[in-house]
Amino acid sequence: MKLGDLGLVAKSNRSTQRLMVKVTPLTVVKVLEKFRIIAKQSGKRSQDAKQGTIQELLVCATDCEPQYLVRLLQTKMRIGLAEQTVLVALGHAMVYSEVPPVPSSQIQSRLEEASKIVKQVYSVAPIYDKIVSALLSAGVRKLSDTCCFTLGVPVGPMLAKPTKGVSEILDKFQDTEFTCEYKYDGERAQIHYLDNGSVEIYSRNAERNTGKFPDVVDSVSRFKKPSVTSFVLDCEVVAYDRQKQKILPFQVLSGRARKGVTLSEIKVSVCIFSFDILYLNGRQLLQEQLKVRRELLYDSFQEVEGEFQFATAITSDDLEEIQKFLDNAINQSCEGLIIKTLDRDATYEPAKRSNNWLKLKKDYMDSVGDSLDLVPIAAFHGRGKRTGVYGAFLLACYDEHNEEYQSICKIGTGFSEAMLEERSASLRDKVISAPKSYYRYGDTLNPDVWFEPAEVWEVKAADLSISPVHRAASGVIDPNKGISLRFPRLLRVREDKNPDQATCSEQVGEMYLAQKINHSGNQDEDED
Ligand code: ATP
Repeated sequence: MKLGDLGLVAKSNRSTQRLMVKVTPLTVVKVLEKFRIIAKQSGKRSQDAKQGTIQELLVCATDCEPQYLVRLLQTKMRIGLAEQTVLVALGHAMVYSEVPPVPSSQIQSRLEEASKIVKQVYSVAPIYDKIVSALLSAGVRKLSDTCCFTLGVPVGPMLAKPTKGVSEILDKFQDTEFTCEYKYDGERAQIHYLDNGSVEIYSRNAERNTGKFPDVVDSVSRFKKPSVTSFVLDCEVVAYDRQKQKILPFQVLSGRARKGVTLSEIKVSVCIFSFDILYLNGRQLLQEQLKVRRELLYDSFQEVEGEFQFATAITSDDLEEIQKFLDNAINQSCEGLIIKTLDRDATYEPAKRSNNWLKLKKDYMDSVGDSLDLVPIAAFHGRGKRTGVYGAFLLACYDEHNEEYQSICKIGTGFSEAMLEERSASLRDKVISAPKSYYRYGDTLNPDVWFEPAEVWEVKAADLSISPVHRAASGVIDPNKGISLRFPRLLRVREDKNPDQATCSEQVGEMYLAQKINHSGNQDEDED
């Protein structure tokens, strides 16, 4: 409890034990082999068998090995390493191990090229086993041919950039055909239908969500036309009142159990709003223009009222018409619009925040723009009414380049009492004795407790300002100062995001600049 990390407990235990016999040193191959055995052990006495296998590993572990073995078993390495870094490292390893060695004049560009290829391939085929063996057998330049999209394996979802108003959209998409779609407020779902008739559903985070939506699995046979033998659909699943034919707020959907749901127990009905298709009857569609993909979507599926519908869309470049369409979207409980190019490079860009998809939310127009997804890294004890819970939290954005969390604001409003208690209870398990080496924050903040990066909170603010205290995007806009949020308010906890998927410093910088353009003369220095 004192150490707050089972890895450290294992390490300190090991260092006080004396070894009677010489142990065989651990190798990567051996550890992997044992992990595979643990994963496959099932049945009645499997708990004991798993413990036995873990013991065998721990007996052979020396120095810091027990610490990392235990952390690996917990899938929490706590070394501040993000997925993207692993991908870059794989690309670099390939370049550095080339024979004959790459000349130093070319090394920089080759490193960049290799990282880009590995990242791109990972976004359509996120399986390390496959990627590493393809790298070793055919090299990095052939990776896209040897390792590609597979039905049943999630593709990184394409993401949208925020925009502030209809006129900005008309500006950005001047010479191109585009479509406006309702932006539904539910949960992203990528539905895979395999040739053998089985269905898998993946979340925005590429996590398997099939167990949460047995009703969606069940409805496939009703909405797919008989000619369809396999597909991948990109959709938003939304809570829906079938009697009143009405979309329900996001909060209703989040009340639904996360796994192991049975059809008969379902109380919250959902409707699938489909807006894209990535695969159809053995044909991969990622490289097709949206115009083509949408036609295939409309032709191959049929709407079933309240169960499966196509995202409501119009194709227009008339400012007033789009404005009216936005108002209708809001009236029908949508968050706003997503505007997409139809034919100019309008391919599906996996895992990318693309310039070809713009999101326009109603509240963008009267405040800072998009909400931010931030990580609570510390807290301050509450006083008065809030004694016993945390009274305020220190939030941070994530800097992908330096792999660090940078403080952006203190937040103490937007919480109901119940929510504050819930968040305090959940974060109490994540308390650590000192800030992580990869946390950046002002010296004057002095929080009472620090947390492991564990949760992502969606936060809305009145505006962004330059701050001498906070470190968000420091060096991006001002060489020494960071950016902070004024009047932040908690909207919801993002269960579907990992801390390293929080809003990044670059986005914070972009939001600050966009605000400057839109409201010149904005107050500019915040003392927090
Ligand atoms: P992002 O996914 O861009 O990081 P986010 O998760 O905070 O942002 P939003 O800013 O609300 O989400 O907007 C993007 C999300 O909107 C998509 O990931 C998708 O789940 C949802 N969405 C709803 N309707 C549509 C639509 N018609 N087309 C694309 N996405 C849609």
